[in-house]
Amino acid sequence: MRQVLLVRYGEVFLKGANRPHFLKVLTDNVKRVVKPLGGHVWLSDSRVYVSGAEDMQACIDRVRRVFGVYSVSPAVEVEKDFEVIAAECVKLMQPYSGTFKVFGKRSDKHFPMNSMEIGMEVGHRVLEANPNLKVDVHHPQHRLMVEIRDMAYLCVEEIKAVGGLPMGSGGKAALLLSGGIDSPVAGYQLMKRGAKLCAIHFQSPPYTGELAKDKVMQLAKKLAWYMGGMRVYLVPFTKCQLEIHEKCPEELGTLITRRFMMRIAEKLARDFGAQALITGESLGQVASQTMEALVCTDAVVNMPVFRPLIGMDKNEVTDIAVKIDTFETSILPYEDCCTVFTPRHPVTKPKLETMPKVESKLDVDALVDEAVANTEVVILGPEDVE
Ligand code: ATP
Ligand code: MG
Repeated sequence: MRQVLLVRYGEVFLKGANRPHFLKVLTDNVKRVVKPLGGHVWLSDSRVYVSGAEDMQACIDRVRRVFGVYSVSPAVEVEKDFEVIAAECVKLMQPYSGTFKVFGKRSDKHFPMNSMEIGMEVGHRVLEANPNLKVDVHHPQHRLMVEIRDMAYLCVEEIKAVGGLPMGSGGKAALLLSGGIDSPVAGYQLMKRGAKLCAIHFQSPPYTGELAKDKVMQLAKKLAWYMGGMRVYLVPFTKCQLEIHEKCPEELGTLITRRFMMRIAEKLARDFGAQALITGESLGQVASQTMEALVCTDAVVNMPVFRPLIGMDKNEVTDIAVKIDTFETSILPYEDCCTVFTPRHPVTKPKLETMPKVESKLDVDALVDEAVANTEVVILGPEDVE
């Protein structure tokens, strides 16, 4: 008899030819997060199992944040002998009162009792031993699961996990990561659907300082946890911003700045092998996020720009930021490069046709190439994200 953690993954997306690949990625990700706890992980018969972790609660907290995992259950593993199973079930149900139902599941067809018989007989034994329990087959308060696989697995608690798709199964994308609340959440949403990210951050020293950079690196580490590391591009953006400030109409400053960010981000994204950009923009949040402004920003890049927060309110985004533990870091009060030259009256309905004329005063290609060439690359490894 030993304690294990039983890990369930979604079935639907795991059908078809990609199934073995998805399962390997998922199992590897579980292995990675339980490694610091000394756990042993294996895949068998449509479940992932973890045994030997020093701290079961810590193990649960980690595994339930692995994308692709739908729920986890602390379980007891015993030999496939009905008497042993029944005795363990009785022990397992001892602390409970109220209603319950036994869910038998016989995957190993050599086991002499079928799923229904297991359920009935175990239910009977539990009832006999615990007078505080009653059977309710329709709406039980407690669900005792008895699964006969390589071994027999018994569990009562089922803890919901993040869901989503296994990390790395959804291609690569580059996240424009500011120090705000929105962009870490935007990145999280794409990672949840399996995308592997790099982060791109624009900094404008001396207008933005070391503390602002530290804050972004802290956010990057929180996101990188899900991937076991991440590549972070730190772009020196002061020169672009100063040129824009000097040579373009003030009311278009933010928009032109954003067009530069996108151009630079696209080049870095290609360096990373990414096929798309991600931003934390939400429709109408600020002047640069009106429909017209987004049309002007998108026009400078040749890859899709994903904006998973486009239809969300700030409070909805904040709820996720709290849940993924980026909120407290995001609200630290350090200057972002965007706030450095904020125009007093930004244009809210810019016209795409006017952009080339406005930008003709700048040597766009040279500025972009210089920023890309001077970008610092920081590689966060597994040891950085623990
Ligand atoms: P908040 O709206 O909470 O301040 P935010 O930092 O995400 O969050 P915006 O100024 O609304 O801020 O910027 C819109 C998007 O542009 C961000 O979500 C982010 O993807 C990108 N962005 C803004 N500033 C930077 C930056 N300094 N580095 C990288 N990306 C940035
Ligand atoms: Mg924002």
